[in-house]
Amino acid sequence: MTDLCWECQKNNNLINRTVNCEEEKKTATLQRQEAHLQHVKEERTLYKKQVADARVVVADGSLKLGRNDPCSRECVMHYSFDFAQQIHYPSNPLQPGPMYFVDLRKCGIFGVCCEGVPQQVNYLIDEGMTSTKGSNAVISYLHHFFENYGLGEEHLSLHCDNCSGQNKNRYMLFYLMWRTLHGLHKDISLNFMVAGHTKFSPDWCFGLLKQKYRRTQVSTLEDIARVTVESTATRLNMAQLVGSESQEVFVPSYDWQTFLGAYFKPIDGDVGIKSFQHFRFSCEEPGVVYASKRQSDEEKKFNLLRSPNTLPPVELPEELTPPGLDAERQWYLFDEVREFCSEKGADITCPRPTVPNPKKLVAEESDVVLEQKVKRRK
Ligand SMILES: [Zn+2]
Repeated sequence: MTDLCWECQKNNNLINRTVNCEEEKKTATLQRQEAHLQHVKEERTLYKKQVADARVVVADGSLKLGRNDPCSRECVMHYSFDFAQQIHYPSNPLQPGPMYFVDLRKCGIFGVCCEGVPQQVNYLIDEGMTSTKGSNAVISYLHHFFENYGLGEEHLSLHCDNCSGQNKNRYMLFYLMWRTLHGLHKDISLNFMVAGHTKFSPDWCFGLLKQKYRRTQVSTLEDIARVTVESTATRLNMAQLVGSESQEVFVPSYDWQTFLGAYFKPIDGDVGIKSFQHFRFSCEEPGVVYASKRQSDEEKKFNLLRSPNTLPPVELPEELTPPGLDAERQWYLFDEVREFCSEKGADITCPRPTVPNPKKLVAEESDVVLEQKVKRRK
């Protein structure tokens, strides 16, 4: 329900309320909703066109996502990305009653879809790997995607939803700028869907993944990865573990915020960025971003470089250490969740912690205090 468009809701409520009002009021409300739907249609048409163009590029069906050198293919390619709602594991299609009340281990999913192929890489993010969906995480997954799964296109177009915390923020713009500065892409367009009208390919791929997930017994991240790959016969969904249950890192997270923030400045503060839906960067104009509210609007030009002669280095930022699970969570998984795992999965997903149980420590301490009190009274 949170996906419902607020503008549509407001207008539709107004339309219902103005049924008995004079014609002028009625017409104004209807026109407002009509204009909004026209805008939605315009944006949807752009998305569909970019997807269709990408299909033409890979029409012969020989291209698959994989390691390709940057700018090694003279073409435009389109990708869409989004987070799915997190899943919980272990999971059992029979759903034993007590399982419902237990706080199971969580796994986030970040998908990057290449509609042209079509294939989607699903980043499986265990709760010990990251605690946020912030821009450092999103940019790190995108960076890993381009390095390991991108088609090596020269010209890149991207679509994502309008979530300002994850996608629409200064660091996302800085990162894409950094790519064009270092020849990793020649030009890039970043396009945001209209809030509340964001149904696009990643949702479709997540849907297929979750259908299979609900029908399968799952105890470990490896199981989730297998379910992901087997969710369609055509191998539409691919799986990439961000890390293991024991915090082995496969997809490093970097401190992009600190790194890029030193060389770039935000456009008009963050209030400015929120009002734009389309951004465009080109290697021909280092430091410049073009932004527009609607694709049909005239673009505004901004310079992101703090100093025109100081470019950020091509080297990657400092790597961030995953937060891991705290002692309390580890003991909770061992005490409460372990019994729902398969025999093999129990020691992987809910192993016996090597750290002391903080709850037991508190209990023991209070026992000591109690004993002392009793002694004193005697
Ligand atoms: Zn709407």
